[in-house]
Amino acid sequence: ATAATTLDIRPIAGTLTDATATPLATPLATPLEDARSQLGAAIGVLGYSSGLHSLLATPRRELTVAVPLRRDDGSTCLFTGYRVQHNLSRGPAKGGLRYSPHVTLDEVRALAMWMTWKCALLDVPYGGAKGGVTIDPRLFSQAELERVTRRYTSEILPIIGPEKDIPAPDMGTDERTMAWIMDTYSVNVGYTVPGIVTGKPISLGGSHGRASATSRGVTHIALAALTHRGIRVHGATAAVQGFGKVGHDAAVFLTDAGVRVVAVSDQYGAVYNARGLDFDRLGAHVAATGRVVGFDGAEPLGGDLLLELDVDLLVPAAVEGVLHAGNAARVTARVIVEGANGPTSPAADAVFAANGQLVVPDILANAGGVIVSYFEWVQGNQAYWWNAAEVEQKLAERMLAAWHQVVDYAAARDLSLRAAATVLAVERVAEAHLLRGLYP
Ligand code: GLU
Repeated sequence: ATAATTLDIRPIAGTLTDATATPLATPLATPLEDARSQLGAAIGVLGYSSGLHSLLATPRRELTVAVPLRRDDGSTCLFTGYRVQHNLSRGPAKGGLRYSPHVTLDEVRALAMWMTWKCALLDVPYGGAKGGVTIDPRLFSQAELERVTRRYTSEILPIIGPEKDIPAPDMGTDERTMAWIMDTYSVNVGYTVPGIVTGKPISLGGSHGRASATSRGVTHIALAALTHRGIRVHGATAAVQGFGKVGHDAAVFLTDAGVRVVAVSDQYGAVYNARGLDFDRLGAHVAATGRVVGFDGAEPLGGDLLLELDVDLLVPAAVEGVLHAGNAARVTARVIVEGANGPTSPAADAVFAANGQLVVPDILANAGGVIVSYFEWVQGNQAYWWNAAEVEQKLAERMLAAWHQVVDYAAARDLSLRAAATVLAVERVAEAHLLRGLYP
């Protein structure tokens, strides 16, 4: 009790502020530089004025908050939290909440911008946002994570709401985090507001199929992309970087579809089996040890070699900036489907284009999550819930419609899939902005 009253505010290792946080594997450019350069390329195609360009490049609203935590041992430490609303022209802001010691304001800005394009491309009626807290969730107890989440929610309360800005899970957060946000918000306003978050537990108004939605979407797109490239799905080989919310289920769904997933990795290392990995057994190993390495049904694979395997399909499903000028030339996968946000730098994109490798951009490939978030919000607003088959069918329809739209647009205008997707999305956001007009 005494410790709780003494204010012992000291940052925890790895949770320092922007200037000292170590960016993840992005030796050449930051995610924000990558996002701005992708936008710049789209603006070049669209021929917009520099005024409109600045408007589209700049977040409408940003909030930085201090998030103090009273630890279980009574000491106190401090994190920084962010919520960035990049664009609101097409509807309420929408986007996930990330818990990672590497979170910076610039990273959240980039992720918020990508959410704007993703929502516009998939034609869900939202703007884009993202949140983050500079915490490594693996180092804290459930009770501590609950207090951090509730304090962060209270701090950003003025700018979130079911018609203002709707958080969802991202790296380091999950449906339990969403339940705490919903409860904190609801207690503060005095009544239950399920629509304040998506990705909630099903018993609190979550949607069937939300937890696996991003991976299902990645799989639909990967199968379409392989076929588009003339590669037979059955027996095609794949490597998946990241074994979290996106990578794990994507590896399983790809395997179910007949793809031979030969390698997967997590932040501790990678494993490889030329005959294809057995995900029932690997799943049990990960449940027991918390990591993929040490699995007896595969060989360990060093460093970043997973990215350079000779496979038909590479799914980077971890963090930003992993495919860059430094390694792009060694990446030989025929098709790259971005499960993560921002895994490929513009320099790497140029190498892949020159080598005839097909890159399906994040704002298309990983949009399954926000599509089912939208379904969850719609179901909640109507207080009428769909069954799992309905959700999955509507998700597949939306993903494949967007896929065909992007492929056709890219072919008609001789653009890469990323350029086509970004141009389509930016044009929709700009159109909404121009129709509404500039106030005052
Ligand atoms: N965090 C996910 C993403 O990056 C989902 C966002 C949402 O559902 O709002 O797309």
